[in-house]
Amino acid sequence: MLAGRRQIFVRLMECNLDCRYCDTDFEKSDVGRLESQPGSGTFLDLPQPLSQQKITAIFDDWCSRLPGAHHSVSFTGGEPLLHADILAGWFPEIRKTLPIHLETNGTMHSALRLVKQQVDFISMDMKLPSTAGCTQQLWELHALFLREAYGSNVSVKVVVGELTTDSEIGQVCDVISSVDRTLPLFLQPLSLPDGTVGLSAAHILHLQELASSRLSDVRVIPQMHKLLGAL
Ligand code: SF4
Repeated sequence: MLAGRRQIFVRLMECNLDCRYCDTDFEKSDVGRLESQPGSGTFLDLPQPLSQQKITAIFDDWCSRLPGAHHSVSFTGGEPLLHADILAGWFPEIRKTLPIHLETNGTMHSALRLVKQQVDFISMDMKLPSTAGCTQQLWELHALFLREAYGSNVSVKVVVGELTTDSEIGQVCDVISSVDRTLPLFLQPLSLPDGTVGLSAAHILHLQELASSRLSDVRVIPQMHKLLGAL
């Protein structure tokens, strides 16, 4: 939903899934990393755990150094909702500085309940067997999550690849249309390690046509930060 907007990213550790394409180091650690200057790509060590006062001070500092540059703060992971109890304490203060965007794997509906009143945008994944290859069956969890998120400016993202089937896209459409067929669906072509896209344009367009016959807002957007060579 916010493609093209610049955000401050907060990556939280640990995840409850094991996606095949995961490119994130989310192992638990006593030390975090803080970008020394916004957009510099160089990092300083940051002792954990972070207090709400400390993280709010970092955001205030960045916003004063680059007035107007950042649209929102994106909480991602790992899976950020594994830390929902902490985020519920942080979000009201952070939100005084910037809106909050939650990027989640869409499997923890009970945890979402703890924070959703303080979240401005929710981007939820639906994990396809053909690309994520997770060991758990996730359709029921995704459906519960979307029902919980509905009404909170939620959109859905699926990573699609050459092996993605019509039937998987059909299941995505079943879940979304059972809640609201006008919710935005983003098809994100799988990125290969060399930065190229892992499926043909013809296949992407076919999947978009299929989903568009059931849903009213289906968009194709590749991983922007990889194309730009940003973090
Ligand atoms: S949900 Fe995200 S962080 Fe967790 S394993 Fe999958 S891609 Fe990695």
